[in-house]
Amino acid sequence: MTVTKMTPAQLERFTARLLAERADAEARHVEFDDAMTEVRAARAGANADDEHDPEGPTMTQEWSQRTAVLADVDGELADIDRALARIADGTYGVCARCGKRIAVGRLDARPTATLCIDCARLAR
Ligand SMILES: [Zn+2]
Repeated sequence: MTVTKMTPAQLERFTARLLAERADAEARHVEFDDAMTEVRAARAGANADDEHDPEGPTMTQEWSQRTAVLADVDGELADIDRALARIADGTYGVCARCGKRIAVGRLDARPTATLCIDCARLAR
């Protein structure tokens, strides 16, 4: 198994960055969760008042937009958790496809990257 050849200082730096991004994504998740609860409450109220409420379709659109954003944030959180798990098991920074090391510059730009730049190009 290829193991990461990063220095402890580099790993520490990426861990800190991933944790900061995780906190940020989590805050967004909570924010959208709250907003969705509000939309849900507003929609329930509208339905109770009048089934043909003109606000109806708008609410539904807002709902699906928020659901999409929430799914994005959840995907981001999952990526970050996987990156943190790779740091923990010593495989962080190793390309999942070819097993070569991912350039540190690429990880700086995208700390959750699982593919080296060459494989990422091929995968596209
Ligand atoms: Zn690769």
